[in-house]
Amino acid sequence: MTTIELYDATLRDGMQGEGMSLTADEKLRVVHQLDALGIHLVEAGFPSSNPKEIELFDLLSRERFRHCEIAAFGMTRRRGVTADADEGLAVLAGCFAPVCTIVGKTWRLHLEKVVRVTPEENLAMIAESIAFLRAQGKRVIYDAEHFFDGFRADPDYALRCVVTAAEAGAETVVLCDTNGSSLPSQISAAATRVAAEIDRFGIHCHNDLECGVANSIAAVEAGAVQVQGTMNGIGERTGNANLVSIIGNLQTKMGHELLTPEQLGRLTETAHFVDELLNRTPNPQQPYVGKNAFAHKGGMHVAGVRADASTFEHMDPELVGNERALLVSELAGRATVAEKAEALGLEVDAERVIERVKALEHAGYQFEAADGSFELLLRKEAGVYEPLFRLESWRCIVEQRADGKVETEATIKIFVDGERYVRTAEGNGPVNALDRALRDALTEIHPHLADLELVNFKVRILDETKGTGAVTRVLLDTSDGREVWGSIGVNENVIAASWQALVDSLERAMQPARLGT
Ligand SMILES: [Zn+2]
Repeated sequence: MTTIELYDATLRDGMQGEGMSLTADEKLRVVHQLDALGIHLVEAGFPSSNPKEIELFDLLSRERFRHCEIAAFGMTRRRGVTADADEGLAVLAGCFAPVCTIVGKTWRLHLEKVVRVTPEENLAMIAESIAFLRAQGKRVIYDAEHFFDGFRADPDYALRCVVTAAEAGAETVVLCDTNGSSLPSQISAAATRVAAEIDRFGIHCHNDLECGVANSIAAVEAGAVQVQGTMNGIGERTGNANLVSIIGNLQTKMGHELLTPEQLGRLTETAHFVDELLNRTPNPQQPYVGKNAFAHKGGMHVAGVRADASTFEHMDPELVGNERALLVSELAGRATVAEKAEALGLEVDAERVIERVKALEHAGYQFEAADGSFELLLRKEAGVYEPLFRLESWRCIVEQRADGKVETEATIKIFVDGERYVRTAEGNGPVNALDRALRDALTEIHPHLADLELVNFKVRILDETKGTGAVTRVLLDTSDGREVWGSIGVNENVIAASWQALVDSLERAMQPARLGT
């Protein structure tokens, strides 16, 4: 079977996405993660487009990587100058990176409307740029921009561009679906034509039709030997092809042995690492690596998975470093409760827990996204729960002034280990003010609570269908930098519901430490 090269474009194309920004140091950390994952080529950017890129290439030039090679990115020469007089190509030639990826035009529409060069001049630009970099001792990857649009408009010319690049010495010619406008069948047809013309071609897809991964797979089936993509599919518009899913599919479904089992086991960690660094909440529904990718809710599913995981799972989650999650629900029953309690080292009466969960769900609770609160419930049932403090009272004042400014102030009165604490804090809203006041008191005894971050706050009004009157459900996600847990509060009053979720989130942070687990 042909060896497929994995080419990561997170640091260049991925950074085109809205709100994507990393410092040079952070980019270096990403490269090390990608290296440990076993990615073959990492595109770092254009070596001198700005001071940040210069700093990055300087850092990279002093590093050693075990698996990956660094590719510098640039363009074919400008029109009207020779390749050896082109400033951009000179930068690439002078860069330490052993691989240069250059992009050039394929689509006649762009030649006419955008760059205003003749088709023949464009072919010369491709050939001369590649030949120049080859003469400088570089390995060259050629990105054929808008290849598929160009192929649909004028297949002969698009193929001539690709063949010209291969003949000029590009080791791989990459077919780019730059506008993300192609369907898998179109990718297959065009890639099959290319396969008849040149030896090595790659694929670079965007996700505008949500076909980024499917298109990449279609190209591999047609003979592509390099796949470009970004971690978690980040990138401009709707993103690039998601390299995480591509790796999962190529290796676990198509039998390509690209990574060692140990490397593949890092897939989830690497995907989450990139999200965390970009300050993005990892998508729980992301295939292979999402928190819910192997989550089971229905009672029969849970029982089936316990008996034989293949009944309701497409693969063993541990292969990609993910884990099975059994969601708690009145549908689930004994098996889930038993498994969760076992994982925490707790002994509980499963029937009683289920009765309790049912009663709470009737009152508006939902524990699927509130694993932290469910853990506390299990600890209470197991008799190993210790409250963090005893409440005397809390209060919250929200004041809007004539100038439109809104001020929030909260006061809490609590007892911790017999001592009374009274704290007042301001915040940008009631939850923030209560959180500040409460943590101001608690961090005197439990300093590590200061590191917690409330990362997500969701409020939902539940209607009266359950006969209890309208109530508010608050879900809070809290992170300590290593893991994220959810907590829940339900009350007719939104601030009281928030308080409850807040207390659960802090207590969940404390419980394992207290038990020494
Ligand atoms: Zn792209």
